[in-house]
Parts: sequence; structure tokens; C-alpha cells
Amino acid sequence: MNGARTAAAPGPGARDAGLRPATGDALDKRIAATVRPDIRAMTAYPVPSASQGIKLDAMECPYPLPDAVRDDIARALRDTALNRYPAADNGELTLALRQAFDIPAQSGLLFGNGSDELIHLIVQSCCQPGDTVLSPWPSFVYFDMAARFDHARFVGVPLTADLQLDLPAMLRAIDQHRPKVVFLALPNNPTGGLWPDAAVQAIVDAAPGLVVLDEAYQAFAGHTWMPRLPHLPQAVVLRTVSKIGLAGLRFGYLAGDPAWISQIDKVRPPYNINVLTQAALRTVLRHKAVLDEQAAHLRAGRAALASGLAALPNVTAYPSAGNFVLARFSGKPGGNAVHLALKTRKILVKNFSDAHPLLADCLRISVGTPDENRAVLDALQDILS
Ligand SMILES: *Cc1c(COP(=O)(O)O)cnc(C)c1O
Repeated sequence: MNGARTAAAPGPGARDAGLRPATGDALDKRIAATVRPDIRAMTAYPVPSASQGIKLDAMECPYPLPDAVRDDIARALRDTALNRYPAADNGELTLALRQAFDIPAQSGLLFGNGSDELIHLIVQSCCQPGDTVLSPWPSFVYFDMAARFDHARFVGVPLTADLQLDLPAMLRAIDQHRPKVVFLALPNNPTGGLWPDAAVQAIVDAAPGLVVLDEAYQAFAGHTWMPRLPHLPQAVVLRTVSKIGLAGLRFGYLAGDPAWISQIDKVRPPYNINVLTQAALRTVLRHKAVLDEQAAHLRAGRAALASGLAALPNVTAYPSAGNFVLARFSGKPGGNAVHLALKTRKILVKNFSDAHPLLADCLRISVGTPDENRAVLDALQDILS
């Protein structure tokens, strides 16, 4: 992905087809004159290849769906008409979601191809070029990326040294930059902290535009703003099914006052939720208890992982309300070396050591199965001794 020049070179297939291999210099020049400079300068969102081994880098649920649910999905997909565009009326899915996730009756709903798409739609519908998108930082990298792709200016307000929300700094930054959109990940990725209600409320009250409460990890936090949404006309709640066992489906939803939702809906690509995703989701939601049970396992696993990490020498495990734990390796070996040593043992975690000064020597470890959690702790014990 990063070696774009090599990837773009025509392969044997292209030559067989009689295509003229692009002359490198001319093509480079054309691309340089055509593609936006900021896009050319950046590296693509890193998606590590799925290796065999233990994958604890992306907050995926480690549990597959039970066979009975999969059989139900198979039947639902078999009966799905692929020759037709998705229906405009999502009534059945909307109702199932409202019930499964306790969405207030008076709130509007918008669906996205992953909540990543909804983040784009929010910025696109609110921001003219140069307008500000603001978030505590470090937080979810896609807030920054989506803002920049959509020609907005991103302002990240640094967390405190112990990775907590700096409310006075947030309020000052809101006053100074007058952001169109404020994103708050609750709990925050990658640090795991859940910002206090009073601080979130103060930000919602101070923000001049829209505040997005991103509850991607709500199932593990046991906390939500959803029921308060009707009393928070300046805020919307963003959710995803990715972290509760359905990352492959690509489905997110945005709840908020219908007046916000109808504006944001205008920039949504038509048919953005495909019929297979809709059918599979409707089916899975009939088995919502399975998802809840898996989330409960992961919450228990998080406690075991966090206490195991905290017991290691020179390791700080930050309190997490998500299905992951951020750990700082302040001794020798540090974060980069530990990340590499885990990789050698075929254990994949996310390395933030060089991502931001506040995250120096930090690795984010997704909660896996009890066996996977034990394996990563055993490996770390070995690496650190
Ligand atoms: C993972 C994550 C998302 C993205 O979820 P998708 O629905 O898979 O696009 C959104 N927000 C936060 C804070 C996340 O960590």
C-alpha cells in the first residue's frame, strides 16, 4: 500500500493485453500535477495483513457467531435479491435497531457503511473548506483523516500527561477555533478512558456547532448518552457494530435530532448499505443476546488482561472502558522493541510508540479469548525478563 509506485507498475497481465507500460517519469509527473499534494504526501491507513497467529491489533471480537446464527444468516442471504438495488425504505432494519440498541423513539437514524463513512458524511455536510473539526488528541485517527480528506482543518487538543481529558484546554480551544464539529470518542480510542459526564456536558454546552459522541465501544463501557439524546439537541450519538462481533459487515449508525439527520443524509451515497449487510444484520439482531454475551466475556477478559499487564515490570496499564488496554513499556525493552518481539512470536498488537509524544512506548492490546490474553501476557513476561 505504501509502495504505491511499485504497485502501480503494470504486471505481466497488462503487457499480455497489449497495454503500453507507462513510462515512469511521465506518469509520475502527471500524477504529481493531478493528485492533491496533501494526499500524495500521506501514507494510507494501515491495515495489517491477517497473519496466522494471534490478532489483537484491531479490537475485533475474537468469537465467531454460533452455528445456529450462521445458518439463519445463510438462509436470509439466500433469499436476498441481488439483482435489485437496496430498497429506500429500511423500516424493518430501523425497527430492529431501535429495539436492540434502545434508540429513543423521537431520534432520527442514519446508516453508514461502517461508522467511518458516517464520520465523512458529518464533516462533508457541516464543513466548508478550512472550517474546523476538533477532538481531544490522541483519539481515533480517522477523525483527523476524514476532516483533512474533506478539506476541513483538524485541531487536536492534547490530553493530559496521564492521558485524561484536559477540559480547560478543550473549552479554550472551542472558544478559539469555533469548530463546526467536535468529535468525542466515549470511551476514547486508543487510550481507553471514558470522559466524565460533567466534562462531556460542558463541551456540548460550549460547542457552537455539532458534537458527535462516538460510542464505538459502548458495549464494553456499560455507559451511554443514548437515552439523554432527546435533551441534547447539539449532539448526535455515533455507533458501530464492528467492535461487537460484526466488523466484516461494515455497518454503523448515527442517532440524533431528525433535523440534523435529514441534513447529513443529503450527502450520503445512495444505496450505501448493501442488501447482504442489511439481511445479515436483521438476522443477527434477532440473536442480540449472543452479542451481549460475547461482550460480557470480553469485559471479564479485559480485567484479566489489565491486571496481568499491570503486574509486569515497568508497565503502566491505563484504565480502559473499551475492549482493549493501552500499556506503556517504560523500561528496556521499550514499546517498539516489545512490539517487534511480539510480532516475532506471531502476536499482533498495535504500536503507538511513534504516533504521538503522549503515547511514547505505548502498545494497544485488544482483548482476545482467555487463551489469547494468557498467551500475550506469557509472551510479555518472557520478553521483559
Ligand atoms: C473502530 C472505531 C470506529 C470505526 O468503526 P467502523 O464502524 O468499523 O468504521 C469509529 N470510532 C471509533 C472511536 C473507533 O475506535
